[in-house]
Amino acid sequence: MKKTNYDCVIVGGGMVGISFALMLARQCVNMRVLLLESKPDLSAQQNEECIFDARTTALSFKSALILEDIDVWNLLRKQSAEIASIHVSTLGQFGVTRINSSDIPVEALGYVVENHTMRAIFAEKLAQSNISSRFSSKIAKVELHERALELVLEDGGSAISTQLLIIADGAASETAQQVGIHALVRDHQQSAIVANLTLEKEHRDAAYERFIRGGSIALLPMSPYLGKPRASLVWIQSNDETKMMMRADDASFLVRLQDQFGYRAGLFSAVGVRRNYALASTEAEEQARRRVVLLGNAAHSLHPIAGQGFNLALRDAECLSSCIREALDKGLDYSSMEVLGKYLDSRWLDQQKVIGFTKFLPQLFATDSYPVGIGRNLALLLMESSQPFRRAFARFGMGL
Ligand SMILES: Cc1cc2nc3c(=O)[nH]c(=O)nc-3n(C[C@H](O)[C@H](O)[C@H](O)COP(=O)(O)OP(=O)(O)OC[C@H]3O[C@@H](n4cnc5c(N)ncnc54)[C@H](O)[C@@H]3O)c2cc1C
Repeated sequence: MKKTNYDCVIVGGGMVGISFALMLARQCVNMRVLLLESKPDLSAQQNEECIFDARTTALSFKSALILEDIDVWNLLRKQSAEIASIHVSTLGQFGVTRINSSDIPVEALGYVVENHTMRAIFAEKLAQSNISSRFSSKIAKVELHERALELVLEDGGSAISTQLLIIADGAASETAQQVGIHALVRDHQQSAIVANLTLEKEHRDAAYERFIRGGSIALLPMSPYLGKPRASLVWIQSNDETKMMMRADDASFLVRLQDQFGYRAGLFSAVGVRRNYALASTEAEEQARRRVVLLGNAAHSLHPIAGQGFNLALRDAECLSSCIREALDKGLDYSSMEVLGKYLDSRWLDQQKVIGFTKFLPQLFATDSYPVGIGRNLALLLMESSQPFRRAFARFGMGL
């Protein structure tokens, strides 16, 4: 059987897999890289439904810098909305905090992009790069040999040999399981409803995080559509409440949402197609071993409360591509644990902070305990009155 050789194979062409492929294309120009994606190439699908009902991602300031390095930011920036301020509040409580870009000061605290836009731009860049890609393709078998990894694909047996396998095929990664890496899964017993809203008044680039009983409501500013201001909604509640709100008609949905969120963003006049996601976080037991690295949701998928999953994964990917580049420059084996261990060490602290924060925050706001409630309100008030505190918090969210 004819075997094709690659220096690196990336499994999973989601946002993380493609970003990492583009980083390698930029930093390690002579590397032969293959991207494998199980779905057919979806980049051409830009239908009407996407324009109004796509999922959005809040990109941190640091992510924008990383995306600039791979030459996609100038295109994305034009189709993104800025986050100039973040308003944090709790339903029925007195504590409120507002963080402004002028607190840092920066042009914007972050940016909101529609996932379908980001995927389309990434796919276009990928097509222009020297990365090979195969769609509708999966690995059937992985074998570790002394000098390389041998992969057999599900397409009837194409064989591939590679020095390094990057697993970026999402949470509950099938490929990680094939190499014997398992994940710890935590079911949050919550779900998120994601939808786009039309607002009656301009959002003025404001984002909102509102904690409610047993969940939260995040509203992110979006670019207008047909002249109407839009916002992206992520409404996290218990699974039962989510089911109820998924069944409700649009009018009842908006009434309940307005009741929980209040009127600080004005009236919600329409809601697009609602989608719901059951929330679980996962952490792989190992993120790297000789010749294998897990990235993105395959390594760690987070509770979306703080919108940090993709941002954290981009920082991981940037660090890994730099470690590989440095190893190549020094003539080292980039798939060795000497190199990959350095990558893990460099990423440990940031990962621990972000993963810890996204675990702690839902718990902190889920409890009905009176003393904890008072503590939460005081913390929000302290942040509101202290610029250094706000700045430190904002810098953390910005990935700096
Ligand atoms: C409601 C919600 C809101 C969020 N908001 C934000 C936010 O504002 N900011 C932020 O930073 N993060 C956010 N996140 C997190 C973010 O969406 C994820 O971190 C990100 O999508 C992870 O991307 P990924 O490429 O690792 O995984 P995925 O998006 O799951 O991509 C995996 C890819 O691998 C492919 N695949 C699967 N199995 C195989 C296989 N066996 N072989 C080949 N290919 C395979 C899949 O088809 C897919 O294309 C949010 C998440 C949710 C649920």
